[in-house]
Amino acid sequence: MRQTHLFTKTRKESPKDETSKNADLLIRAGFIHKEMAGVYDYLPLGLRVIKNIEGLIRKEMDKVGGQEVELSSLQNKEIWEKTERWDAKDIWFKTELNGGGELGLGFTHEEPLTQVMTNFVSSYKDLPLSVYQFQTKFRNELRAKSGIMRGREFLMKDMYTFALDKEQHEELYAKLKEAYIEIFKKAGIGEITHPTKALGGTFSPYSDEFQTETGSGEDTIHVCTACNIAYNEEVKGEFEKCTCGSDSFETKKTVEVGNIFNLGTKFSEALGLSYKDESGKENNVHMGSYGIGLGRLMGTIAETLSDEKGLVWPMSVAPFQVHLVRLGDNEEVVRSADEFYEGLLREGVEVLYDDRDVSAGEKFNDSDLIGIPLRVVVSAKTVQSGEHEMVERQSGKTHFVTESSLVDTIQSYVREI
Ligand code: ATP
Ligand code: MG
Repeated sequence: MRQTHLFTKTRKESPKDETSKNADLLIRAGFIHKEMAGVYDYLPLGLRVIKNIEGLIRKEMDKVGGQEVELSSLQNKEIWEKTERWDAKDIWFKTELNGGGELGLGFTHEEPLTQVMTNFVSSYKDLPLSVYQFQTKFRNELRAKSGIMRGREFLMKDMYTFALDKEQHEELYAKLKEAYIEIFKKAGIGEITHPTKALGGTFSPYSDEFQTETGSGEDTIHVCTACNIAYNEEVKGEFEKCTCGSDSFETKKTVEVGNIFNLGTKFSEALGLSYKDESGKENNVHMGSYGIGLGRLMGTIAETLSDEKGLVWPMSVAPFQVHLVRLGDNEEVVRSADEFYEGLLREGVEVLYDDRDVSAGEKFNDSDLIGIPLRVVVSAKTVQSGEHEMVERQSGKTHFVTESSLVDTIQSYVREI
């Protein structure tokens, strides 16, 4: 994409009413727009990141046999009354039909999906199943001060598993746990993300959270210094000692980027999701749920990998792979940079081409703020020498590559993910 065609611009000043680091950076770099507290719009650069995160997660969900669906946001009061979550939950956004009657805007989807599955599951031969979606959730969050990490409207990947019994559920659960570890590793935050034992809320005694170290984190975890297992502060009292026997812990501020729950038969019992086993006996389906907030993950990457100059995207989710920066506007430089751009596009490289008529300083500052992993500079100097400067955004390392080897060099970075 030519930068002269991109309608967003960077800005120098922080937005006045924004207290979170992720939204401050993302607004200044033109990735998102703030509508109001907890409500954000994704602009072209931001949407490209969200779509890449979605693609990365989808790949791992498909690998474990997930089937993708998309359920409605509008929720039927009756089915939520069956699980007693219509009145009990204070995070609902509820609305009324013109002709009378109440609807809710879904904050999660256990109830409607369980209801859907009653149409298709009847025999032990129908199980196990894993079903997932990327879907907009609405939550009337009391505090919305963490930018896109805590939205009142946000995109979530939620998977639900349906198993014959506890044993089969545990197999699915273990696979999903591995898939989550892989997702956060590929998203560039593997080393600072801890699988963490936590209270499982209403569903089961414990759940597994994935907690990422970040200064602004709303959560506190205790990481065992001997075996690295982590415990959420809220439960820590019950874990005076780690399961490995050690009682030495390191405390960290974190944000929950994902979590996985054992739901047991709570929802299947309430909504009548059962199957006949081989002997013809009816049994309730054993369920699990597995969430990741896409904005939460994007905000976490923005906060934890950025530096004093701006955003630093890992190749796996970056809005573009290469930022091609043209310095100067003499005919030869323009022709050379244009050819370069066309050549990279033909090779399938995702390029943002800074073809604007602004100073070199402004171009470099913007490039640092936007945070594309590789920057290639085309100037009168590089055109003359035939060697182009390629800078890695994260490490600042500079390489000089010839025009003919550049595509291969860039693709070797892209292939690394
Ligand atoms: P938290 O304790 O942070 O409120 P939660 O326990 O309510 O999270 P779930 O209901 O299990 O979280 O949601 C699954 C995932 O969705 C979370 O792990 C997180 O990544 C994301 N998430 C939850 N609430 C929000 C929100 N308000 N904005 C963005 N992402 C969210
Ligand atoms: Mg919550």
